[in-house]
Amino acid sequence: MSDSNAVCPRDGGNLDDGHFHDTPVRHCKTCDGVLVKQNQLVALLLAMSTDIADHIDEDSEVTPMPDPGDRLDCPECKTKMDSYGYMGSSAVTIDCCQQCLWLWIDPGELGTMCVIYQRANKRLAVKQTAAKQMTRNLEKLDLGMAVQNALWTRFQLIDLL
Ligand SMILES: [Zn+2]
Ligand SMILES: [Zn+2]
Repeated sequence: MSDSNAVCPRDGGNLDDGHFHDTPVRHCKTCDGVLVKQNQLVALLLAMSTDIADHIDEDSEVTPMPDPGDRLDCPECKTKMDSYGYMGSSAVTIDCCQQCLWLWIDPGELGTMCVIYQRANKRLAVKQTAAKQMTRNLEKLDLGMAVQNALWTRFQLIDLL
């Protein structure tokens, strides 16, 4: 990781090894793009977005980031990187080398990815709360039936003599 002769896939500038929110990254001073390992991404987004988590709801809007569109060469192994929408969203396109598991994140995209990530968490939480509520209602219903059934056992037919 220390032999950073890796260059920025956008502008050819040198990538500096460093840490961003305790996550090891390679950073381009020229364009502010960043290279991060695939398995470190969530930790980075989480660390970056704790402050905004409370201000995001499940309907928060995301401003789409324009993507230059061309496929990039991996700064390490020089093969073409795949590009795909982050979390299935078309708002942010990130580039990934399947061999080195590097992700290239263009300047400004990290912020948008934080919003998408936290919004997904919020949506999940909303769903889980709804599911819990449904279970609770079912329990109440079952309890009601149980009480009613218990009462029926006390029902006595009036003997008509
Ligand atoms: Zn750059
Ligand atoms: Zn590579």
